[in-house]
Amino acid sequence: MRPEQTERTVDKAVEPNSFKTGPDEEGMFGIFGGRFVAETLMPLILELQQAYDDAKNDPAFKAELRELSTNYAGRPSKLYYAEGLTKHVRQLAKDKGLDGGAKIYFKREDLNHTGSHKINNCLGQILLARRMGKTRIIAETGAGQHGVASATVSARFGLPCVVYMGATDVERQAPNVFRMKLLGAEVKPVASGHGTLKDAMNEALRDWVSNVDDTYYLIGTAAGPHPYPELVRDFQSVIGEEAREQILEREGRLPDTIIAAVGGGSNAIGLFHAFLDDKSVEIIGVEAGGRGLDGEEHCASMSAGSPGVLHGNRTYLLQNKDGQILDGHSVSAGLDYPGVGPEHSWLRDTGRVSYVPILDDEALNAFQLTTRVEGIIPALESAHAIAQAVKIAPTMAQDKIMIVNLSGRGDKDVHTVGKLLGMEI
Ligand SMILES: *Cc1c(COP(=O)(O)O)cnc(C)c1O
Repeated sequence: MRPEQTERTVDKAVEPNSFKTGPDEEGMFGIFGGRFVAETLMPLILELQQAYDDAKNDPAFKAELRELSTNYAGRPSKLYYAEGLTKHVRQLAKDKGLDGGAKIYFKREDLNHTGSHKINNCLGQILLARRMGKTRIIAETGAGQHGVASATVSARFGLPCVVYMGATDVERQAPNVFRMKLLGAEVKPVASGHGTLKDAMNEALRDWVSNVDDTYYLIGTAAGPHPYPELVRDFQSVIGEEAREQILEREGRLPDTIIAAVGGGSNAIGLFHAFLDDKSVEIIGVEAGGRGLDGEEHCASMSAGSPGVLHGNRTYLLQNKDGQILDGHSVSAGLDYPGVGPEHSWLRDTGRVSYVPILDDEALNAFQLTTRVEGIIPALESAHAIAQAVKIAPTMAQDKIMIVNLSGRGDKDVHTVGKLLGMEI
């Protein structure tokens, strides 16, 4: 049975003047977020918050992050006019007797070092860890993308790194496990639960509590207890800041629509944040619709979940009637997190951002289409965002402009896609 769509918790009438000011002192975005952690973690969380508040006002910290972002990670990433895809959506419109077809741009986070937006967050957090005098890095990973990015920055700064990874994922993602080991990280398989991302995150939080003095927990998405959702958002906001500047330069105006895929929500909030107060810009987050929202084989926590507490914050979750967290499913490993960052839950309920599901099959089609008409193999996560763009662009006029976040490249997904297409690689 499809769960009832949860009512918005925020009255439209109390819509804030700015959507960019959150979270509050307690880490709340409306009723979402916060710090729901064990007593023993509280001092760590407060220490991190103090360190982050100092760092973000320190020009030297910003300068070092900028230097690394530029010369190590390859920023700014390009804003690319996807002419092949635009032609394709105009043909789709024509086939229906319409003369629509919005102009589609890609924000090319796939061109970053390590192949996705994850490096933006890892560089910011490793500098923070060093500033705090921490000498050991821990991280959680699902598909292994964040594990690889964490192992990468740890190698760069000569810090030992332990990556918690669900035992099931360790088996499914052998190449990334090997990459992390090459980079000098220790990969610890987590057998509890179903051996996936949620279990890895629980284990990382446990490690953190028992190694308070020397350890920094490098969270991979805009979730977890405050201040993580805020600081991860800030480190990813460079995506939207650049995109906003780039589109103003290219087109002389703001885009009409921006779209990004939502797992935990870091690449999405990274693109969205700079545009939140631009009322004319429609913002769409795309969740993993998996095999459809009717059963449990999806990961659409905002389209089909309900509010609850997971990993230290209140947010929309996939849970059963007893509050048991469900595992969810997506063709794309990076989207199958049963929760979502709290800021997205708040943006959903205020109505500022719309969240829609895209099915596995639709993402797979967009993956193949983009590869063929653009010569770009997108990550399966990003293919969800592209699928939504292809769905709505034909209904929009040709002078409309859309920016899709190409969060990562798809080299990591070729085996998955090959299998789905029934091909031996
Ligand atoms: C990890 C990942 C995602 C999902 O994570 P978010 O925190 O929601 O951004 C999306 N795309 C790519 C390429 C990823 O590696």
